[in-house]
Amino acid sequence: MLLGRCNRCGAPLVLRAFGRWNPDGTITVKPYGHGLRVSFIEQGELTALLDGISSSIGYPIDKIVVEGERKANGGSVDEMLSKMRGLVRSIAHSAIGVPFAEKIITDVAIGLGHGRSEVLEHKRGKLLRVRISEPYSAALATGDLLGTYEAHFLMTAVASWQAEGDSLVITIEKDHDGMTWEEPARLALKKMPTFPGHVEFERCGRCDVPLEMTRTVSWNTNRGIIINNDSGLRQVMIIVETINAVIGELTWELGETIPDMVREAEQAYIASVMVGTELEGTAETYAQLLSDMTVFGQGNPVEVTKEGVLLTVRVDNPFCEPLIAGRIAGLYQAVEKVETNVIWSPGTNGYTVVQAWPV
Ligand SMILES: [Zn+2]
Repeated sequence: MLLGRCNRCGAPLVLRAFGRWNPDGTITVKPYGHGLRVSFIEQGELTALLDGISSSIGYPIDKIVVEGERKANGGSVDEMLSKMRGLVRSIAHSAIGVPFAEKIITDVAIGLGHGRSEVLEHKRGKLLRVRISEPYSAALATGDLLGTYEAHFLMTAVASWQAEGDSLVITIEKDHDGMTWEEPARLALKKMPTFPGHVEFERCGRCDVPLEMTRTVSWNTNRGIIINNDSGLRQVMIIVETINAVIGELTWELGETIPDMVREAEQAYIASVMVGTELEGTAETYAQLLSDMTVFGQGNPVEVTKEGVLLTVRVDNPFCEPLIAGRIAGLYQAVEKVETNVIWSPGTNGYTVVQAWPV
C-alpha cells in the first residue's frame, strides 16, 4: 500500500503520504501538521556517533540509547494516535486491526530505510517478537519498536535484542499498564522551524517530492534501505526529535561533555569520508558542500563566509547542532588538510553559528 512508487519520479508513496519539504530547510510529517520533523542522515554517521561516544567513555551505551529513542519515538506515536481521536488506537487494539497496524509500522520502517521487519510472534498487548533484517542500528531500532508498541497498547514494556547474522531479533514484553514518560521533557525536545526560508526545489508535478531527492537517493523497498546514488552509502530517515532525545538522554546520564563527543565523532567520520579531496577552501566550496542540508531536512545554511582562515556558517532551523558543527569541522579538516578547531552557538533562538579554523 505505502510501498508503491510515484509513476512519474519513482519516489516511494510513503514519502508523499508523510513528508512535506518546506522552503525553510525542514521536512515535516503531514499527519502532524507542522508538529514533527524528519531528516535524512548517513547510517555511518549514526554508527560513528554511538561507537565514538562508547569508546570515549569506555563502556557500551546501548541501554541509554534505547531509552532515549523509546521515549521520543513512543511520544511521537502516542501523539499521532491521540490526534486521530482514538479511532486508529481502537483499530490497532482489535484482533483484526493488529495485522493492519503491524503492516503500517513495518511499511513505514521500510520507507524510512530502517530495514525490513517480520513479526515472528505476537500475543496481543503482551509480547511481540520481530526480526529486522539489515537494521539501521540495533539500539535505535529496539528503542523505535519499544516506544511504538508501548504507545499502541498504552503500557510500559521491556525490550531485549539479539543479533543473528545480518538480522536483529527484538523481543518486547509487557511490564505493566500505562506509559511512563513525562510529557514536558518530551515537548522541550522539539526542533521545529523558527525562521522562514526561501529554498526552492524543483518538484515532481505528481507527488511534490523534490526531484533532487529522487535523483540523490534510491529506495530499495525489498530490503528497506536507502542508498545515496553519489556516494553509494546507506542513508536513513530519522525523526529529528529522536536523535536529540538520544543525545539529551546521554547528556543527562553521562554529563555535559556528550555534545562535544557527538561533534568529535561526526567530525572524524566526515573527515574520513572526505579524505583526499582536492577542493579549494573558498566560501563557495563550503556553501556547495553544505547545499544538500536543505533537501535532507537538516536546516538551512543561509550564510557561509570565509575571512582569512576563519570559516563562519549560519544555519537556520538546525536539526542537531553538535552534528552540524561536527560536519562543518570535518569538511574544513578534509578540505584545508589541517587539524581543526570548531565552536558553535546553541540553537535556542532557532539558528546556530558555527566557526572553524586551524588548531
Ligand atoms: Zn513523483
